[in-house]
Amino acid sequence: MRITVVGGGYVGLVTGACFAELGHTVDIVEIDARKAVAINAGRAPIHERGLDAVLEKHAGERLRAGTDYGPVTEADLSFVCVGTPPAADGSADLSMVAAASRSIGEALRGGKGSHTVVVKSTVPPGTTESVVVPEVLEHSGRDEIGFAMNPEFLREGRAMEDFLHPDRIVIGSRDDRSGDMVAAVYRGLSAPVVRCGLTAAEMIKYASNALLATKISFSNEVGNVCKRLGIDVYEVMEGVGMDHRVSPHFLSAGAGFGGSCFPKDVSALVSLAESLGEEPALLRSVLDVNDRQPLRLVGLLEERIGNLAGKRVAVLGLAFKDNTDDIRESRAIPVIAELLRRGSAVAAYDPLAVSSMRRVFPGIDYAASAAGALRGADACLVMTEWPEFSDLNGEFDLMKSRIVIEGRRILSCDGKEGICW
Ligand code: NAD
Repeated sequence: MRITVVGGGYVGLVTGACFAELGHTVDIVEIDARKAVAINAGRAPIHERGLDAVLEKHAGERLRAGTDYGPVTEADLSFVCVGTPPAADGSADLSMVAAASRSIGEALRGGKGSHTVVVKSTVPPGTTESVVVPEVLEHSGRDEIGFAMNPEFLREGRAMEDFLHPDRIVIGSRDDRSGDMVAAVYRGLSAPVVRCGLTAAEMIKYASNALLATKISFSNEVGNVCKRLGIDVYEVMEGVGMDHRVSPHFLSAGAGFGGSCFPKDVSALVSLAESLGEEPALLRSVLDVNDRQPLRLVGLLEERIGNLAGKRVAVLGLAFKDNTDDIRESRAIPVIAELLRRGSAVAAYDPLAVSSMRRVFPGIDYAASAAGALRGADACLVMTEWPEFSDLNGEFDLMKSRIVIEGRRILSCDGKEGICW
């Protein structure tokens, strides 16, 4: 099939590359010309394992990128993959979705043949029907266009694997034919397909992220109690997660959740619930626990080494999770800000995210290795579960004293003097 993917960021680029891998002809429409140039040259503007290889294989052939919406005219389907960032009041800012829908509508004006517009961006229930459909129909002047909603569940850092081996494919549609078109795109993947209406598909994505975020905040709250009692929360959650009704995933206590999705999606769901006159007490607490968790880490540090003013603190891990260069809502950000506020000197290291974090904190020291950050440090905070950190051991001897606080349980060195969550 011919597919246009609108927005060539994390989701759009991975979606486009994987659709090309599945045999489709894909045009990515991306307003940022630099990203389009990089994609056409076979270079991914983001770090994602396995993405470069697929781009090299298909770029310029089955996969092209540009800033122009022209390819929509020839496509069977267009997938909207633009951002839905949080607005100031916590609700989802849908301006990019509206603008992309308008541009798709304009591109379809005067055309013939069937076309299905598919929303992949995470949008509040009702958005496809109330924003996307009217924008496309009004600007195309055509009423036979189909609409579907196909939320994305990939995890950054494992996005290609997740896309090609999903737990399920959710397809909400306005009419059966549109849903069938989307299902046909995924033919070749072996995953259960959930067919439903547009709003249910939109809500499945929010409910999924909110539940995962809830598991993390729950684990943190239990972890904070465990800490007071001298119990290892990881041992506890391992035992809890063995119950098949719970599952062992997303039960890691620590610094809390970050990234471009969980915080904004839970906020958007809270905002939606409030707008409907509901009291989303549980979801508000999920965010509240998460906001306080990084500061608890700094508090623990102070309990161990006293006044933080003038102390040198190594921060290992800046990305919001391992295997990505993405620092959006990374828990390292509030931790570094608090350390600086209390007068500490920060030496930071991350395998991929240093250049992004430099834009947020230009004044701290950045090391080229974990050893470089640890040398001469009074204490260390581990903020990202990078697998390479599990090999660290002798490097901690470079510190003034081996005081290590883990915001993620990843270290495996013998006799580490760490405080674990
Ligand atoms: P992103 O910011 O990385 O990418 C969005 C891209 O869209 C950017 O490159 C931007 O330049 C481009 N864009 C904006 N307006 C445009 C327009 N009018 N026309 C063409 N291009 C335009 O965002 P993302 O992380 O890929 O997220 C996209 C959506 O997918 C969001 O709704 C997000 O919540 C959802 N989502 C993200 C993830 C994730 O892990 N990142 C996972 C699942 C779902």
